[in-house]
Amino acid sequence: MQGFKGKGRVSHALLAINTIPLLLMGLLIMFLSFHWFSKAMHGEIETELKNAVSSLNTLLELAYPGDYELRGDTVYDLYKGEYNISGDSSLVDRIKEETGFEVTIFYQNTRVLTTICTLDGQRILGTGAPEIIQEEVLSSGEAHFYDNAIINGSEYFSYYAPLRNSDNSVIGMLFVGKPRKSVDDAVEKAVYPILIAELLFAIIIAVINFIYNKKLVSTLLKIHRFLSDVSSGNLSARLDPSVLKRSDELREIGTSAINMQRSLTTMIDHDSLTELYNRRCADRRLRQVIENAIKHQTPFCIAIGDIDFFKRVNDSYGHECGDLVLKNIAACLKRHMTGKGFAARWGGEEFLLVYDHMNVREAYKYLQRLNFEIHDMECSFEGHSVSITMTFGLVAGDTDNVSLLLRNADDKLYKGKAAGRDCIMC
Ligand code: GH3
Ligand code: MG
Ligand code: MG
Repeated sequence: MQGFKGKGRVSHALLAINTIPLLLMGLLIMFLSFHWFSKAMHGEIETELKNAVSSLNTLLELAYPGDYELRGDTVYDLYKGEYNISGDSSLVDRIKEETGFEVTIFYQNTRVLTTICTLDGQRILGTGAPEIIQEEVLSSGEAHFYDNAIINGSEYFSYYAPLRNSDNSVIGMLFVGKPRKSVDDAVEKAVYPILIAELLFAIIIAVINFIYNKKLVSTLLKIHRFLSDVSSGNLSARLDPSVLKRSDELREIGTSAINMQRSLTTMIDHDSLTELYNRRCADRRLRQVIENAIKHQTPFCIAIGDIDFFKRVNDSYGHECGDLVLKNIAACLKRHMTGKGFAARWGGEEFLLVYDHMNVREAYKYLQRLNFEIHDMECSFEGHSVSITMTFGLVAGDTDNVSLLLRNADDKLYKGKAAGRDCIMC
């Protein structure tokens, strides 16, 4: 087989065609899942934080009736009614414990009670919220949700609501928040199984594809090998039988390749006009007969037959009529030689007959019968009835020298011609 430069490319291309879209789809699904999950969770967190702020407000109202008031000279404490709420962080700590939310109470823009601590565990009391929050919550008196408020160096989902006294005046803010990182971690945790499932799915599909493609390419290579052999002249090349066991288009291609091989063999070995073996094929077959005869010590003989005065047929009725006569004679010879050996078109109107496993005496008898048949044969052409005769030179296969054998048969034939034609000379 010739070197197959592109080996493997089809399988790689098929693998890529099937796997790359799958991987891209996986990435898209992962991106969209992440986006949708985040969006859905942000909405949910906003509602949770809003509810938590509202509950905290109600709780403060119920637990400590009265207005908020700042008392003290040097250290300021925030009172609600008679209770110093900035002096007791147990309420906010409990809320944090139960909900996981950070809680802060602002007096104006200053944290007076909070669950948020620095790294060394100090509550970030006395600090303020960013300016934008001051404006949007404290000044305008409206509650706001932020998905990226920076507090103590970390991003928070935060809900800020104004803190009001009974006269509706805004005296501070209530804050409930959740670190953004914890939410993002939760989203990632939810998305990762989807990603892993998708990747596993892509790997399984890639493996299935790889196995299938390998089989496909191996079949293509078998067909390619067969066609290469045939195209380089090996007409006896065999197509791997597994190709014909398939049930898809590749089997059809394999069948067509075999049919092409058969057609080529027929074209190469046969004469196109008479459909008998041509001289090249006859020579090869004759050598095989000689080889077998020597090997098995069996007799054989050959005859060369030539149509008498064939030129006259052409001259009298035309070349087309001559062709018709040649075809009819060929059919007659083929019929006659069935089971005895083979007939071939040796030249223009010359034919070779090889009688295998037969001595001259037997072959002579058969040739006589053939001669009678040819006598009786009439070719009708455009209203004319054309009769012909043939002269044969018959020799026994007593040498393995093919040229000598053929020359001997030819000599006999010419002796027959010289002796008046329409005879068998042996
Ligand atoms: P002889 O008895 O001595 O063999 O005489 P002949 O006329 O048969 O021999 P000759 O060699 O003079 O002529 C043979 C003719 O056969 C000449 C050629 O045109 C014709 N011929 C050879 N091949 C074909 C063919 O394929 N078709 C036709 N129509 N004629 C052919
Ligand atoms: Mg001749
Ligand atoms: Mg002739």
